[in-house]
This record gives sequence, C-alpha cells and structure tokens, in this order.
Amino acid sequence: MTGSHAFNHAPLEHCPFMPVFGPPAIMFERGRGTELWDTDGKRYLDFLAGIAVVSVGHANPTVAEAVADQAEKLLHVSNFFANPVATEAAVKINGLLREATGHDGQLFFTNSGAESNECAIKLARKHGGRGRHTVVSALGSFHGRTLASLAATGQPEKHEPFAPMPEGFRHVPFGDLDAMRAAVDGTVAAVLIEPIQGEGGVNPASSEYLTGIRELCDEVGALMIVDEIQTGFARTGKWFGFEHAGVAPDVVTLAKAMGNGMPVGACWARTEVAAAFEPGDHGSTYSGTAIACAAVNATLDEMQRIDAPRRAVELGQKIVDGLRGVSGVSDVRGRGLMLGVALADGLDAKRASQELLADGLIVNAVNASTIRLVPPITVSDDEIDEAIEKIAAALANQLAEQARHVTGAES
Ligand code: PLP
Repeated sequence: MTGSHAFNHAPLEHCPFMPVFGPPAIMFERGRGTELWDTDGKRYLDFLAGIAVVSVGHANPTVAEAVADQAEKLLHVSNFFANPVATEAAVKINGLLREATGHDGQLFFTNSGAESNECAIKLARKHGGRGRHTVVSALGSFHGRTLASLAATGQPEKHEPFAPMPEGFRHVPFGDLDAMRAAVDGTVAAVLIEPIQGEGGVNPASSEYLTGIRELCDEVGALMIVDEIQTGFARTGKWFGFEHAGVAPDVVTLAKAMGNGMPVGACWARTEVAAAFEPGDHGSTYSGTAIACAAVNATLDEMQRIDAPRRAVELGQKIVDGLRGVSGVSDVRGRGLMLGVALADGLDAKRASQELLADGLIVNAVNASTIRLVPPITVSDDEIDEAIEKIAAALANQLAEQARHVTGAES
C-alpha cells in the first residue's frame, strides 16, 4: 500500500497509514442511527456498527450532546486527580455487574478491548502469585492485538510473525470441557473465555461449558475471566453474555459498545480479586478520562432508556425469523443482535459481503461461510426488512450462478 492510494475522492500520493488493514473501500462522512453516508452522498445501512460498537446508533443525539458539553467543561486531568464523570461511569458499570454477578467490584478504565484484557491478565498473574501465571483460553478466540492479548488469542497464525510470544498461555478447543479440565492445573491463574466467540465466527458457548469452567476454576482456585468486549452491554439480549449461563465470573473485560464509538473500555473484578493490585501495579494516562466517560454515561443512560436488552432480543428474533425463509441461508447462530448467518454449501461469505456493500448494506464475513450481523440496537423494523431483502438478493445471485455452473457442467 505504498504509492498512490485512492480513498474515494481523495487520491493520495503517499498513503499515511501503516499497511495493517486492507485498502479501505469507502470513505464515510456522516451517520445517523443505522444509516451512513459516504463522501459521494450514497446511503448505506450499517449492520456492522463499527464492529459491534455503535449500539445506540451513529450520531446519537444524547451521546453527542454529552460529549460536546463535557468538551466545553473538562477533557482530561490525569489519575493524580478524580473527576465526577469517571466516578459516575464506574458506579454505573459496577451497578450493572453487581446485579449480574451478585458481587460488588472495582474497575480500571482502559482505552480499548485489548487493554482491558491486558489489565485482566496482569491482575490474574498478580492474584495467582509466583508459579501461578498461566492463562488458558480457547482456540478460535479473539482477545486483542497487544502482545499479551494476542498471546491469549487462540489463533496461532496471528502469533507466528511475532514470535516469540510472551510465556504463560495455553489454548484448548472451544466448547470441549474435558480439554479445559486437562489444561487447568495448579499453575493456572485464570481461564479467559468469550461467551460467544465473535471474530472466531459467532460461536456461542453452551451454558454447560461456561458453568463447567466456573466449577473448574473454583476447584483449582483459578479466576474466571469473561471477555465481554463484543458481547457486553445488551448486545446478546442481556446486559452481559455470561448471564445467559447463570454464571458469575471473577473478572469481566469490556469495551466496544461502552462508549458508542468513544475509545474506552474497562476491566472489572470483584473487590477481593481487585485487591491483588497495589498502587503502581498498573496505569494508563487516559484511564477514566472525562471526555470518554461522558460518552459512557450517556450511552448507558440511552441503553437503559430504550431497554436495550429487550430490544436486542426482539429485533434479533425478527432477523432470525426473516432469514429463516431466505434461500442460501443454512443456519443463524448467536443471540440477540449478535448473529452469524451461515451460508449454504458453495456460497462465499466474502463475496456476499462485498456485493452487499455495493448494494448499500454493511456486514462482514467472519469466515468463508459466515456473515456477521451486529447492527445498532436502535435498528428499526423497516431497516431490518430492507437488510433481509438485500441479503436475499445477494444470495440469490450466487445461487443462480451456482445453478448455471451445474447446468453448464451437465450439458
Ligand atoms: N476481545 C474481543 C472479544 C473482541 O471482539 C475484540 C475486538 O474485536 C477485542 C477483545 C479487542 O478489542 P480492541 O480492538 O478494542 O482492542
């Protein structure tokens, strides 16, 4: 990606971005709710929501106003001092997690999901003590791109270019409790698990699997860390994905939807576990910065106002029902508004997502045969109908082509 690089309508002689992402196809200028407009004025429906981030919609007026007001008052003061906005956000999030786990806890604000997991991994190592620092996670998982969160990520091909990885990480097949049992011994500080693997293909963990991990952690004295970075904040139809299984983790990592697009995350731990950290053990200049926390408060207020968990259940069901009759769809996995649309044999999810983009619907292919749908939780019934029509048309194209090939081969 050196030399001439065309962002639509902005051809650049020299691309100013490091070449870690594929060439961006479209430049977006503005959004509102589920809709986005590119620099040509073309409208799109956004069923990716910035990768499960913009849960209360693009340019949400409540969030926009809170951020603008805060910007006029105070952006940032550092952790030598407190600010009321971070305190309010921490109390709100602890309230939600107290209700979900039955435990009071404490949190550390981060700027991203990877940093939330870094904090959790450091906390687990400090809590475990010397000789007890291993973190066990699942194959197919995604926990971030920093070195430790990447080491926890169960995708060996992503480790390979950066070897050697930090020591102390073990991976087991997702959903296999026996394999987990074999891996969790007295050297294990924590098990780190997603309630639904997002990047790995929208693969839900069963309740038995999560309950089994909880029991196993209790038996050996390891922490159960649940990565709620993609599933958290109502996306799956409950405030947190682990609630579907009725388990109470010791540590919960958060980000994405928490600030509706403001870069902010958190690592929460029940109070006795958080007590393993002492002053100086961890930190970040921007932890709890007022401007990000203003977005968190407004986002959580909006989620509560619209009863986001209930909306996610109802609208998710509408999508599942709508897709059930669509030719080319073989299965719909996931919960609430975190759905993976599995395509019939021979259909190409990447091609479908590209054709859908051209037709004005933003989705992404999480693997060769699965399209992920994670729209804003504010998505409307009409927008869902429009998206399903577009998906049906894109799959019909591929099916027609497949049929022509078969007929061609037979004649
Ligand atoms: N954990 C999970 C489950 C995720 O889905 C992601 C991002 O997709 C991350 C961690 C990393 O978050 P971030 O990209 O904000 O560092």
